[in-house]
Amino acid sequence: CGIVGFTGTKQAAPILLDGLAKLEYRGYDSAGIAVRDGNGDTEIIKEKGKLKVLGEMTDWGAAVKGCCGIGHTRWATHGEPSAVNAHPHASDDENVIAVHNGIIENYQELREKLIKAGYDFKSQTDTEVAVKLIDYYYKKYSEGPVDAIVRSMLRIRGSYALCVMFKDYPGEIYTARKDSPMIIGITDGETYVASDVPAILKYTRNVYYIGNHEIAKLEKGKAIFYNIDREEITKPLTEIKWDA
Ligand code: GLU
Repeated sequence: CGIVGFTGTKQAAPILLDGLAKLEYRGYDSAGIAVRDGNGDTEIIKEKGKLKVLGEMTDWGAAVKGCCGIGHTRWATHGEPSAVNAHPHASDDENVIAVHNGIIENYQELREKLIKAGYDFKSQTDTEVAVKLIDYYYKKYSEGPVDAIVRSMLRIRGSYALCVMFKDYPGEIYTARKDSPMIIGITDGETYVASDVPAILKYTRNVYYIGNHEIAKLEKGKAIFYNIDREEITKPLTEIKWDA
């Protein structure tokens, strides 16, 4: 339902919690964050209930160290509201960690394919299928994050805004969307990503709108965009003139 991501030199967790709070008006049943430090070690904290619960678990973000992370407030569509079904979801080795807004219509078919390929599923969500599909293509073809995401986009039917972190690429966030909104905000040495503008307006007014079937690679203060053919594309930076 709500997505916020950050990569930069500040601590990510307080920014994620603050951004998610700005998206609370949309409604949600659970919340979670995944934060990575410079060594690539990642902490995933998620729980059913309000952001307040997550805030108390993490000392409002202060207890979670790392400058790159993704956060989510979930409005359950597949699987009951619970800590297990809350996002972020990860592959078993935490090679791929992601949050997702939307619905993956053919998740059952993809789940069966992945079970045959040796994957276990912990949750009832359609999102876990997307995470493990990306992990599957990443390992099968070894052509990097953008390729693994593109291959997954070509297989997935439905709507999605995804933020994905790869263990091999600490400090980077990959994002892709179809029929579910996502924007990217940039300021000196910092990159923000969110499902809606109010989450990041406090930090920057310079945004990129990512289009349907497009992918972005986010680094500190920088975004690189790709089309579904994996070709780099350029986008205009837009200034937000209104207040939330
Ligand atoms: N379909 C996903 C789930 O049920 C995402 C729901 C959302 O957009 O919050 O977990």
